[in-house]
Amino acid sequence: MGISSSHPRYQSLVWRQQIAEGVRRGLVHETGMIAHGRGEAFDYLLGETTIPVAAEAERAAAYVLSRAHRPVISVNGNTAVLAGEACVRLAEVTGAALEVNLFHRTAERIEKIASWLEECGGRDVLGREVEARIPGLEHDRARCSREGIYAADVVLVPLEDGDRCQALKNMGKTVLTIDLNPLSRTAQTAHITVVDNVVRAVPAIARHAESEDFIVAWDNRRALQSCLDYLCRRLSSLYESE
Ligand code: ATP
Repeated sequence: MGISSSHPRYQSLVWRQQIAEGVRRGLVHETGMIAHGRGEAFDYLLGETTIPVAAEAERAAAYVLSRAHRPVISVNGNTAVLAGEACVRLAEVTGAALEVNLFHRTAERIEKIASWLEECGGRDVLGREVEARIPGLEHDRARCSREGIYAADVVLVPLEDGDRCQALKNMGKTVLTIDLNPLSRTAQTAHITVVDNVVRAVPAIARHAESEDFIVAWDNRRALQSCLDYLCRRLSSLYESE
């Protein structure tokens, strides 16, 4: 589909198109379109921009990833198609491993996403071999790489599901997430929640890691409240000037 760059919603339509294309290529599960739609709605409400508290969360996440002993970036289909290259860059800058980890796991989709990340320049992408299990989760959702997520001290899990986020936390890991919905269970559970689009957030975290532009102390509950306050202010003042 040709999308004119003059269209007022051009960027959003391009991302939507990338997700649809990702489904056709077998990288994104069909339910990934629903998750994307929810994210798109929150992005719309937030003004499709990195709000100030999210910019701070990006600096805090950059600090934690840069100082970690065994950082891992967990990549699912949506993240791979929207921010594959940026994830590779972030892994390079912070020394993190990349692991493909899916809610709806099939060997075929894992292979496609891992190969895509390798095309983007990723090296030693984990996730094809999943010998370990995350305690407290059932079936395939528990499976992960022993040298990757299982052994990690810090995991970045963009667009994650709340149960898995909690299970990783229960293992004693520091959990960072990127999630446009400040009310999701993942957003509420993680140690640092970046309420921003993965397309903007991953490159921003990489830039901050590279320039060592960090925030060291972080209070996630306060930050989430600040996101909600921002949203409320934005919505309640929309027609005030008329
Ligand atoms: P939870 O179990 O945490 O409550 P959920 O069931 O609401 O999660 P999922 O479908 O597991 O949601 O995950 C999708 C999440 O990712 C949603 O909260 C959605 O807002 C967010 N999301 C979708 N696309 C993006 C994106 N491009 N950037 C950032 N966040 C996104």
